Amino acid sequence: MNGARLPAGADGGEPLLRTCNVTKTFRADGVSVTAVRGVDISLGQGEFAAIMGPSGSGKSTLLHLLGGLERPTSGEIWLDGQRVDGLSQARWAMMRRRHIGFMFQFFNLVSNMTVADNVELAALMGGATRRQARERRVELLGDLGLSARADAAPARLSGGEQQRVALARALANRPSLLLADEPTGSLDSSGSQAVLRLLTRVHADGQAILLVTHDARVATAAERVISLFDGMVADDAALLPPLRPAAARPAAARLGSALPTVLRLRG
Ligand code: ADP
Ligand code: MG
Repeated sequence: MNGARLPAGADGGEPLLRTCNVTKTFRADGVSVTAVRGVDISLGQGEFAAIMGPSGSGKSTLLHLLGGLERPTSGEIWLDGQRVDGLSQARWAMMRRRHIGFMFQFFNLVSNMTVADNVELAALMGGATRRQARERRVELLGDLGLSARADAAPARLSGGEQQRVALARALANRPSLLLADEPTGSLDSSGSQAVLRLLTRVHADGQAILLVTHDARVATAAERVISLFDGMVADDAALLPPLRPAAARPAAARLGSALPTVLRLRG
């Protein structure tokens, strides 16, 4: 850690997450692919933003960079005022255990542990006591309709169930930032509803969420949609949820014309 601090934002507040001109180029067998090209985004404490974009537009790569699973080729990543793009893997692992919930597109559950233990382990690694970990697991599996599956091995679950367990695990340490890659990608509509309800509550609790989704219902639960195209931010627009207080509307309304069509209908 270099101890450098990012200057405060224009509003005087420190964003939870900020990237400066982040780029990622993969090189293999003499071929190079630039998946992320000069991305500048910032996410406030407690903010909920969705990332959308066509397949191959760099969504997963960007999320991996933000969670420290990949190192950027150039650019800077700041998390809670600390520059993190140069951290060692060990430091990143510590950061994820304590502060970030990461839900991957492929769920990566520990196969020889039960569903309950997968979730509790994440809570324990985040600093919870055994009792807190158990309570948190019971609560999360209940929220996601998985209580009856607590003692099952992950391999016995459907894809949709594994996906919800992965989300429960990502939330077990009460992360200040949840990064999730298509958290409803394998779910039927009741599973998606359970996930949406949980995300809404996580957001109401003040935890920030940055998720990749193709699902307009999920995206409209967010306050903001960042559209990626060809590795670049093509659009970054606030949404107008129907229940937002009237005072918040004028500033957000100015962005209305930039919203993707599917979301503009809500304005
Ligand atoms: P998305 O999640 O939006 O579908 P990705 O971030 O997975 O897009 O991929 C963006 C581009 O980067 C694609 O062209 C993909 O083939 C390439 N890519 C992603 N990961 C790797 C990798 N590990 N090695 C080489 N190319 C990669
Ligand atoms: Mg992807």
